[in-house]
Amino acid sequence: MKKHNFYAGPSILSQYTIKNTADAILNFADTGLSILEVSHRSKEFQAVIDEASALVKELLDVPEGYSVLFLGGGASLQFCMVPYNLLAKNASYLDTGTWASNAIKEARLFGEVDVVASSKDANYTFIPKDYTIPADSDYFHFTTNNTIYGTEMRYDPESPVRLVADMSSDIFSRPVDVSKYDIIYAGAQKNLAPAGVTIVIVRDEALGHVERAIPTMLDYRTHVKKGSMFNTPPVLPIYSALQTLRYYKELGGIKRLEEMDLAKAGKLYEAIDGSRLFEGTVTDHADRSIMNVCFVMKPEYKELEKDFVDFAVTKGIVGIKGHRSVGGFRASLYNALPMESVEVLIAAMKEFEQKH
Ligand SMILES: *Cc1c(COP(=O)(O)O)cnc(C)c1O
Repeated sequence: MKKHNFYAGPSILSQYTIKNTADAILNFADTGLSILEVSHRSKEFQAVIDEASALVKELLDVPEGYSVLFLGGGASLQFCMVPYNLLAKNASYLDTGTWASNAIKEARLFGEVDVVASSKDANYTFIPKDYTIPADSDYFHFTTNNTIYGTEMRYDPESPVRLVADMSSDIFSRPVDVSKYDIIYAGAQKNLAPAGVTIVIVRDEALGHVERAIPTMLDYRTHVKKGSMFNTPPVLPIYSALQTLRYYKELGGIKRLEEMDLAKAGKLYEAIDGSRLFEGTVTDHADRSIMNVCFVMKPEYKELEKDFVDFAVTKGIVGIKGHRSVGGFRASLYNALPMESVEVLIAAMKEFEQKH
């Protein structure tokens, strides 16, 4: 049976990415060798990382003065690298979920952290909007998409100080004005590649303003200077990332991806809002994520939640169980998920509703 993959991460990748990665595992760039067994300093792999970097710049319209890095350690390592490199005295953070609060925890190891607003008391069901970013902060950090709670900031906020964003779960789903940011980072396993590589887009000028000693591997300047090749980079995930980036370009770029994502999410939210059994968890509809759609059974049908997950599996639908901190369901609609899968999910919801 055809599977419909709604996992939150690692998550669905395009067949183009998966097939080309499989091919390169057998024979990489006609070398007669597997990509798993060639030097990262070979000219063939250098071409991969160069093209991947150029495509990130092209797709996101990255201006001059920025470097694109491919690092290990996941987005979680960026929670520490950002303050290590940018936090001299104090930084401001917006607390919109688990990942944001993990980032805050790390930053506190390096200086004062001003949490400008938090929706924690409401179990992160909305994005706080009334807050002021202190003008003497070293930077303001926020999470564009809260993967666990299904809220998203689909805009580039105004900030009087350097702007830093964790875009792990919605990068490449909308045009971004990169010139407003000093650092953008994103783990690959949501919208790009297998786990193991993190994209970092850094304004070169933002570096070198803190006095502390920074370990070589955690200093962005090392990776800027060495073109992400100071040590062995995550070769295979970078190769897969290149395939996805080519695929995104072929499809028509970010605007086209955004249209497709809006259409998928719009359809699913409409089905949830029109349902007798289901309801969304995000209180302000303007905050609803187009990447991770979180919903539950209405209180009077709560006991049917497990049954629906089991029912969905019989239709080939996998990965819709909500994160344990929210419960219910989460349908992740990343770029590679086809509209057809959303339609199958909606049909399953309707059929289940008729039965109950
Ligand atoms: C998944 C995720 C992370 C954590 O990524 P790792 O690569 O596992 O460290 C951080 N931030 C956001 C927004 C995420 O979705």
